[in-house]
Amino acid sequence: MILQMTKRMLATTDLRLLWKFSYNFGFKGVLAIQRFKRRIKRGVYFPPFLNISITSGCNLRCQGCWVDVASPPQYLPLADLNRLIVNAKKQGSYFFGILGGEPFIHPQLLDLLAAHPDCYFQIFTNGHFITDEVAARLRKLGNATLLISIEGNETISDERRGREKVLSNTMRGLETCLRHRLITGVATSVCRNNIGDLLTAAWLDELIRRGVHYVWYYTYRPIGPQPTPELALTPKQVLQLRRFCVAMRKRKPIGIIDAYWDDQGQALCPAAIGLSHHISPAGDIEPCPIIQFAGAKITDNDGDIFKTLTEAEYLRDFRRVAAGATRGCIVLERPDLLREFVLRNKLRDTTIRQTALAELTSLQPRGSQHTPGQEVPEEFWPYRFAKKNWFFGFGAYS
Ligand code: SF4
Repeated sequence: MILQMTKRMLATTDLRLLWKFSYNFGFKGVLAIQRFKRRIKRGVYFPPFLNISITSGCNLRCQGCWVDVASPPQYLPLADLNRLIVNAKKQGSYFFGILGGEPFIHPQLLDLLAAHPDCYFQIFTNGHFITDEVAARLRKLGNATLLISIEGNETISDERRGREKVLSNTMRGLETCLRHRLITGVATSVCRNNIGDLLTAAWLDELIRRGVHYVWYYTYRPIGPQPTPELALTPKQVLQLRRFCVAMRKRKPIGIIDAYWDDQGQALCPAAIGLSHHISPAGDIEPCPIIQFAGAKITDNDGDIFKTLTEAEYLRDFRRVAAGATRGCIVLERPDLLREFVLRNKLRDTTIRQTALAELTSLQPRGSQHTPGQEVPEEFWPYRFAKKNWFFGFGAYS
């Protein structure tokens, strides 16, 4: 499988892009985690990875979206973004998830990538704004992978994302990325109305036929102003997702990512272990993208993000509460404890709509990726090795 995967990557991407991916993300990513491990031994928590929502603007209106897409769009200023990244690099953090809203709505996204050729960026996008011109510039820059979200067939996509022709516009963007030999992935938040179509070997074969390099499966989180809880997976379906990922990793020459389980199949929460935190479009520092509460901003301490993050008592309290409550997702399993955490730390509601606390209060507890006694260990050695060394609890759950 490794040989097939390597052949496919070499045949469908640009070698310079592959080198940037291997060095800026792969090599520097491993060093970033080694530095993270050494820091936490001293009780100092600065994440090796940051997720940054650079804008709240979006052309879609998805069910389960927590972003203020219906309000006038916010944009993180390029100067603040550059300072954040320069200071994060000083701590060895060179990898950044770029989210929105729809990141390509931010007029300076490509300037941000150009300003940091030594970094690697993963851009979470619906693909609608990826033209030949944009793709050609991305190829020239070489330091970003596109993770394009597909949520179902044409009908389901329009229903889930609140617009028409969503899938065909996305597929056009996907095709443009692949034609320009960009490293390209497809993300899906798996839910009840797309699990039958998108959690199948046939769908992976279709993506491989098109030239897609990796997939990232999330589980649908029923949150935000339009939570649509009837879409959330049952515990049995969450286990089905886990088993599918483990089985397909051995069989299909395509990367299959999840951010929920370690090499033993034990659940984990990236925010609870301090592996990553989230920056909102207004510069708020949140535990993770769907926890829209903050006690600090990236502009605090003259933009010294290391000082602000490592001294943030509320993040320390979050890690303690979340890891103490579950190995899974505290938002899903214990919204009551999360609400207490918000009130105890007097955190700001970071939304424009100012309804995050009411939304949290109305959440009903449900299962998440933590299915104790039903752990499914990794079977394919590259994933087992990678997760064993670079994606596990880091002592948060012991
Ligand atoms: S709190 Fe939930 S959504 Fe946030 S990082 Fe943890 S598992 Fe993911």
